[in-house]
Amino acid sequence: MRASRFFISTLKDAPSDAEIVSHQLMMRAGMIKRLGSGIYTYMPMGLRVIRKVEAIVREEMNQAAAIELLMPLVQPAELWQETGRWDKMGAELMRVKDRHGREYAIQPTSEEVITDVVRTEIKSYRQLPLNFYHIQTKFRDERRPRFGLMRGREFTMKDAYSFDRDLAGMQASYKVMFDAYTRIFTRFGLKFRAVAADNGAIGGSGSHEFHVIAHTGEDALVYCPTSDYAANMEAAEALALTGERPAATEELSKAATPDTVKCETVAALLGIDLARTVKTIALTAETEKDGKITKQHFMLLLRGDHELNEIKVGKVAGLANHRFTTEEELLEVYGSIPGYLGPIGTQLPVTVVADRTVDKMSDFVCGANDAGFHYTGANWGRDLPEAAIVADLRNVVAGDASPDGKGVLAIERGIEVGHVFQLGTAYSESMKATFLDENGKPAPLQMGCYGIGITRILGAAIEQNFDDKGIIWPASIAPFEVVLCPMGMDRSELVKEQTEQLYAALQGAGVDVILDDRGQRPGAMFADWELIGVPHRVVIGERGLKEGKLEYQGRRDTEATGVAPSDIVAFIQ
Ligand code: ATP
Ligand code: MG
Ligand code: MG
Ligand code: MG
Repeated sequence: MRASRFFISTLKDAPSDAEIVSHQLMMRAGMIKRLGSGIYTYMPMGLRVIRKVEAIVREEMNQAAAIELLMPLVQPAELWQETGRWDKMGAELMRVKDRHGREYAIQPTSEEVITDVVRTEIKSYRQLPLNFYHIQTKFRDERRPRFGLMRGREFTMKDAYSFDRDLAGMQASYKVMFDAYTRIFTRFGLKFRAVAADNGAIGGSGSHEFHVIAHTGEDALVYCPTSDYAANMEAAEALALTGERPAATEELSKAATPDTVKCETVAALLGIDLARTVKTIALTAETEKDGKITKQHFMLLLRGDHELNEIKVGKVAGLANHRFTTEEELLEVYGSIPGYLGPIGTQLPVTVVADRTVDKMSDFVCGANDAGFHYTGANWGRDLPEAAIVADLRNVVAGDASPDGKGVLAIERGIEVGHVFQLGTAYSESMKATFLDENGKPAPLQMGCYGIGITRILGAAIEQNFDDKGIIWPASIAPFEVVLCPMGMDRSELVKEQTEQLYAALQGAGVDVILDDRGQRPGAMFADWELIGVPHRVVIGERGLKEGKLEYQGRRDTEATGVAPSDIVAFIQ
């Protein structure tokens, strides 16, 4: 590629809405352009990175015997109604109507469509196992789109779906995907960690998230440096709850009158050890009666390091679908604190306690939407200052031995870039996706699903790899591997000739090289490529050439090294 024929558009300053470094640098490097909230054009420079990410994902998925197809972006509502997700997904699901008034979802994932494909295509156990994937645009109407590609509304995901005849088969397929993910993130050249995740309402027996480690990450990870234990904060906090959770929830719902219930009672019912409980737990429960959803919510803010005053528990209807977008809105619903939230109207929930002012939405907003039991820790809203989050998290695990008895837990922050999930038969049962087993009997397909946030990888890679000059791409996903920077190509025949020769040699060796023939001054030219983050730079100057040398500088190097032109191809590789 010649820079004069490519599109390069760099900025000195980032737009003011870019809060984190990856967003700022991607904007400054001309990789993305904002069109609307959470919606971006992938500019040519950014698209090159996306394509490289996709290529690695494709190679490893194909290698793992997954089969690529491409499912539609726009999907009929009827399919989503079959699984109940049309209602359950709430406002995050983008819905559109066609000219006949028929409703459609813009896909946030594709479980329904792939299950529909499979239920009509798969007849017999002989056709199994199968794993289908696609790399496709997703749309999620996120409550707070932010951080550029990290939490967009429109984004690209690789999502895969496995189908097996039995549990053991499904677990084997899951393992194959887990291993493929490990290879994929290793090839990206990123520091990452796989952590156990809570399966939440979907049920099933296993789920792991893959996180790129970065201190700016939205998620807290709990791990043990001396053993294999690693979990996200939700899953780790689940350890603080013992006993049968659904049963406890039911008991709690019986015990819950609009009157005050002692926190000890609630804690006992839930099996929460107050002495070592996380600082904040928000808990919600949701029940279904006669096909109608009656919602009961309990939100506890338990704080292990404070005296608990009291917990008020009551009943509420409809709160689960209430989405707060501003703090004002939240306070309108909950009333103003400190100490006690509510009651508002006749049917207010819950709540709480405290000897401090709840001054941020993120201190207590809980995500209640899935059937069943869901709780989340103090870091849920993620609006807290870093120090406060760390302090909160220390409370969770301070001094705790690991659950496997092999050491002491530590915490780091990560960005969720992949998620593998054992779904079991939840979708195949609701959509009647069966196959005939060896005895000719119909049985529901055992499913797994596996996502990778293709576009989020870009943000995550940058959060992990940058300096004050700009991005530092790992070579495997860099927009270009090498940039050639000739000094005065128009003035010096020697420089021109050597540059063209080197350019051809690198291309011949299969190196993804860009030749900066824009005729810029060295300072501006170098600044551009440091900002864009190309891993290798070769400067071709007349003085150096006369001494038989080119100047090589790796993006992390503090100074250049002289390398003979004939050695440069080998030097880079
Ligand atoms: P998060 O917890 O960040 O909201 P999620 O758990 O809702 O993500 P999944 O449903 O597990 O996301 O989707 C699979 C992958 O898609 C995630 O691991 C993440 O990498 C990516 N992803 C999810 N939401 C977004 C988004 N809004 N923008 C970019 N990538 C996303
Ligand atoms: Mg999400
Ligand atoms: Mg998540
Ligand atoms: Mg996830």
